Amino acid sequence: MGALLTRAWDENKVLVHVKDVPNGASCGCRCPICEQPLSARQGRKRAPHFAHIHNHDCKGSDETILHQMAKEVLLEVGQLMLPPSSGGFPSGLVKLYDIKSEVWDEKYHIKPDVEGITEDGQRILIEFYVSHEVKGRKRRVIVDNQLNCLEIDLNYQNLDKEELREFLTKTSTDRKWITQEEIVQKEVEVISYSSNSNPIYRLAGELLKRNFIEGTLYLHPYLQYHDNYTMFDADAIYDLKELGYDIFKVHYKYRRFGSDILLCKTNIEGKKSFISINVRGRRRSEGFRYPNGWMVVDIILKRGSTYDDIKDRWANGVIIKTFETDVVYTNFNEWYLKEKPTSKSFMK
Ligand SMILES: [Zn+2]
Repeated sequence: MGALLTRAWDENKVLVHVKDVPNGASCGCRCPICEQPLSARQGRKRAPHFAHIHNHDCKGSDETILHQMAKEVLLEVGQLMLPPSSGGFPSGLVKLYDIKSEVWDEKYHIKPDVEGITEDGQRILIEFYVSHEVKGRKRRVIVDNQLNCLEIDLNYQNLDKEELREFLTKTSTDRKWITQEEIVQKEVEVISYSSNSNPIYRLAGELLKRNFIEGTLYLHPYLQYHDNYTMFDADAIYDLKELGYDIFKVHYKYRRFGSDILLCKTNIEGKKSFISINVRGRRRSEGFRYPNGWMVVDIILKRGSTYDDIKDRWANGVIIKTFETDVVYTNFNEWYLKEKPTSKSFMK
């Protein structure tokens, strides 16, 4: 387990190695497990592999492998850094005893990804998520019975055992107690812009992410501020899902670019067209180099932005320029010309 998908079927259903095909979706390969289209990834940071374009639940997909790898790492290290405590939950680095994975719970009829017992006898359940958060009946059971269930978001992680080990035992980010969700976060206010660790950015990013997963994200291009504004309809709001952006992912390769959200258009064969959405505290410096061919939306929260403000304004997933927010669009010119939205995409 833990190996990347390196072999796939070509058009003639012959198994080929990822190194022997063209890079990207133009490789024309399909997954030998689910038979869905794959994209060849021959980047530098990670070993060459195939990634699923659509079917992220396939057991050969990156997402599934990452999920599996996180469980393995946790079982191996037997330790976990819990988030800072409030409301009686344990916190800090805990050692987990009697740790096990995917064991059916007879009493609650759920199967946690991992569970273990802390030194002082508390049972802790752990759920990892990549594309799907814990929801439905499982979530209800956890909340109704006030189980100590920690949900850990792997979307920001690379497929790397060593990094995952660090993430799980040395950091406390991207994890929360399911039963404790809706709380304190609301009171977070922007105090400083000097650091990217401002919690409001992360919360705002999570909000956008949730909007996209549960519905869609409407993009208001505000193109009257753009160089070639005359080409654009300044009142248009574009529904990203209608435009074919159906996958939500985090940049792996470009973490240093400071990007959290990558919406990847995949419904056109062989086409690479990304929109990256970032929540930031300030504009990028003059001459900042953007990744080639990517459209970038930088959402800049201004002083005084609070989580509640943002939540209200972005309730429908609309990214919009308002008094407290600046939105900067980069490289949208080309996008608009190529993929001019149909009238269906125009919202009021
Ligand atoms: Zn597959």
